[in-house]
Amino acid sequence: MDRGFFQYQKEFEDKALEVLRSGWYVLGKEVSSFEQEFAAWCGSKYCVGVGNGLDALWMAFRVLGIGPGDEVLVQGNTYIASVMGITINGATPIFVEPDEYYQLDTAKLEALITPRTKAILVVHLYGHNAKMDDVIHLCRKYYLRLVEDCAQSHGSAFNGQKSGTFGDIGCFSFYPSKNLGAFGDGGAIITNNEQIAADFRVLRNYGSEKRYYNKIVGANSRLDELQAGLLRVKLSHLDELNEERRQLADRYSAQIQNKNILLLRERPDTHSVWHQYVIRCRSREALIQHLEERQIGTIIHYPIPPHLSEAYQYLGYGPGSFPITERYANEVLSIPMYNGMSEEEQERVIDALNSFEVIL
Ligand SMILES: *Cc1c(COP(=O)(O)O)cnc(C)c1O
Repeated sequence: MDRGFFQYQKEFEDKALEVLRSGWYVLGKEVSSFEQEFAAWCGSKYCVGVGNGLDALWMAFRVLGIGPGDEVLVQGNTYIASVMGITINGATPIFVEPDEYYQLDTAKLEALITPRTKAILVVHLYGHNAKMDDVIHLCRKYYLRLVEDCAQSHGSAFNGQKSGTFGDIGCFSFYPSKNLGAFGDGGAIITNNEQIAADFRVLRNYGSEKRYYNKIVGANSRLDELQAGLLRVKLSHLDELNEERRQLADRYSAQIQNKNILLLRERPDTHSVWHQYVIRCRSREALIQHLEERQIGTIIHYPIPPHLSEAYQYLGYGPGSFPITERYANEVLSIPMYNGMSEEEQERVIDALNSFEVIL
């Protein structure tokens, strides 16, 4: 469990009471203050709070006018919400295999661009970063829109620039387990484009700018005051929380030594926020069992790649369509890593991993 709450318990409780007693619960000063603070923290001009990460994603493509007949390039090994953000609008996801850092393999992008390609959705998976200079080069060359899924990368950076600020729209989730997690659902977008920010404000609120005057068919997708207030507290500590994760990751990277286990490294010139610490193992089932016997829980992010999920059968892919994506799905394993994890707890995980043997 993330111990972030207990670390700053008093601040969270004070803020919760303040919002409860204010009598104002939707779209008020906490949301607008959070939007300003988060935009500034990311190095972006505008932020618009929304209901969750998926809404941020589908509304991003809606605002950009991407829909039926359009193709969006997205990495194959992502959380399914990234893909739903595309398909909810009727657009078609074109999957790209990941590179050795488990991010979109930018060397494979150009060959997939067609006259129907309208955008690239980069997912900064596990808190790492895609090779953004390549992505930007292609977006400029082919006039493509760029959306970033930053649900796992609050504060990660490529060449010193924070994720979410490279393209048209950066989409964030504040689901409790994310690096910047709320105490319920929440999300936001950041953008440097004033019109895009304005469009989002209309879209998230029934398509209305002025109450009861509806310009378009919109959504009800607002970040609420309580979550925004609590997120402001968390944001004020996010640098130290991310730094703590980096230290935990460094320790794992230095001390996990087992020829059956492959570690995920940080790409040079990037600053990872280690949303997950992901290892790879060909004998994953045996490793999970070995860890379970030592009371160490693990999670697979993600066991079924979107192109093989039941929801996307209609796209017509089968096993073998994306071999690297599928291999990762079969081999990846996220080991325990959370703010507040003690040295002793980490030691136990390291010992367990180092004592794992594959019996053939
Ligand atoms: C969590 C997550 C989402 C969805 O966010 P929600 O707030 O749960 O809707 C989207 N993309 C990625 C990569 C995620 O990890």
